[in-house]
Amino acid sequence: MLTTLYWLTNDLRIDDNPALLRAASSDRLLIVHCLDTRQLHPRRFHLAQLGKGRRQFLIEGLNDLDKQLAPYEQFIHHCFGQTEMELANLIQDHNVGRLVCARQFGSDERAVLTTLEKRFSDLVIEEVDSTTLFSVQTLPFAHNELPNSFTPFRKVAEQQAIAHPLARPAALPPAPPRPSHNIAESMIQAAGPEASNLFTGGTQSARKHLENYFSGALPLNYKEVRNALDGFDNSSKFSPWLNQGSLSPRQVYHRIKQYERDNSANESTYWLFFELLWREYFQWLAKQLGHDLYRFGGVRQPKRNPGCFYPERYRRWCAGNTPFPLVNACMKQLLHTGYMSNRGRQIVASCLINELGMDWRYGAAWFEHHLLDYNVGSNWGNWQYIAGVGADPRGGRHFNIEKQTSLYDPNGDFIQRWSPQPVESVIDSVGIDDWPII
Ligand SMILES: Cc1cc2nc3c(=O)[nH]c(=O)nc-3n(C[C@H](O)[C@H](O)[C@H](O)COP(=O)(O)OP(=O)(O)OC[C@H]3O[C@@H](n4cnc5c(N)ncnc54)[C@H](O)[C@@H]3O)c2cc1C
Repeated sequence: MLTTLYWLTNDLRIDDNPALLRAASSDRLLIVHCLDTRQLHPRRFHLAQLGKGRRQFLIEGLNDLDKQLAPYEQFIHHCFGQTEMELANLIQDHNVGRLVCARQFGSDERAVLTTLEKRFSDLVIEEVDSTTLFSVQTLPFAHNELPNSFTPFRKVAEQQAIAHPLARPAALPPAPPRPSHNIAESMIQAAGPEASNLFTGGTQSARKHLENYFSGALPLNYKEVRNALDGFDNSSKFSPWLNQGSLSPRQVYHRIKQYERDNSANESTYWLFFELLWREYFQWLAKQLGHDLYRFGGVRQPKRNPGCFYPERYRRWCAGNTPFPLVNACMKQLLHTGYMSNRGRQIVASCLINELGMDWRYGAAWFEHHLLDYNVGSNWGNWQYIAGVGADPRGGRHFNIEKQTSLYDPNGDFIQRWSPQPVESVIDSVGIDDWPII
């Protein structure tokens, strides 16, 4: 009898989930999510990886998925602890012969798989491409031969057919008996109402949002307004759900195509796809780069010193208390919503690197802690790009803050809206005062 363990990560859905379908060909199926407790405490760059808002969004996604598994007489087995140890215990206790999961692009998750591989020589591990537009087989580039900048990738990738979303499984194999008392499960289920006033985790809200977005003219105007600093409708806001996996990029892509058939296609509808390709590029780039994704010097020799750590400057940047009102407003928006527009991210990243002379990785870590849409490849890849140590042939970006202010906040409305927001309670929660003064 084959027992399969399906390790849930950023693929929290039933529809269009090739990993779940693969896992379903088994006699027994144990569906597991592990909240890694190492992510809850300050670790790298003096910060916990999983901030309060992200944790809440994740819990919402998990609870939503659990409800959807109930008609299949399945459930999520929740663990708290060090993921590799928790999974190893379950593999032993349930005599698991096969582990299935979404392909992992981050090195922490890859390390979990490597540890299990070494420890259980008979365990079959299958990583399935369920969080990207392409799979390893359909990606139009050979393993580790991705172009070192986006444009050549995009030109080839946009010509490729993209598979249609898969139907949900008709049935799932039975689960092993549910543990009578699981503290992790009680904690997850007892979690309070949503933390973000913008986003609720899970496929139900993801689907609702997808349909709302495509129900009117928004996709036809996307390109004109996507750089706005504020305004929920000015960009798609798919990213939190895409990166939790409660929405798949293929679902979004094919919804764009349907919209184009039902309405019309223009530069804006194309541009939504163009941006999905940026996401795609950063996923495969992360896989190719491995640890180089987090390296100070990145993947190319920087043209200038990429900065160091100044605790006071960093503290001010995090708290939205720099000499630059536009930067401050963006940083407060992040603290209060878990979201920042793409233009805002570019401006504050450029400020940290260029005006404040900081090591870009501290900025990436701050984003990782706070962004509800945090994605390892997109976050660290974009930071590298702006720092001039990544996939940018121009060697870094320096945004003129004054010019950006006059272009994107000419009347000061955005600054006015966010600047008065208090930050103390949010900042205290991450132990910002524990940083060493160098
Ligand atoms: C310093 C920095 C850090 C970032 N960190 C993240 C991150 O952790 N997670 C993340 O999803 N995006 C990240 N981005 C990219 C981008 O800012 C967000 O994807 C976008 O703002 C999300 O809002 P949206 O869904 O409304 O995007 P839209 O403008 O509606 O774009 C549609 C989709 O395309 C993808 N996309 C758009 N722009 C980019 C981009 N530059 N790189 C990768 N994918 C893109 C996203 O999946 C997005 O949902 C970062 C950008 C910068 C400059």
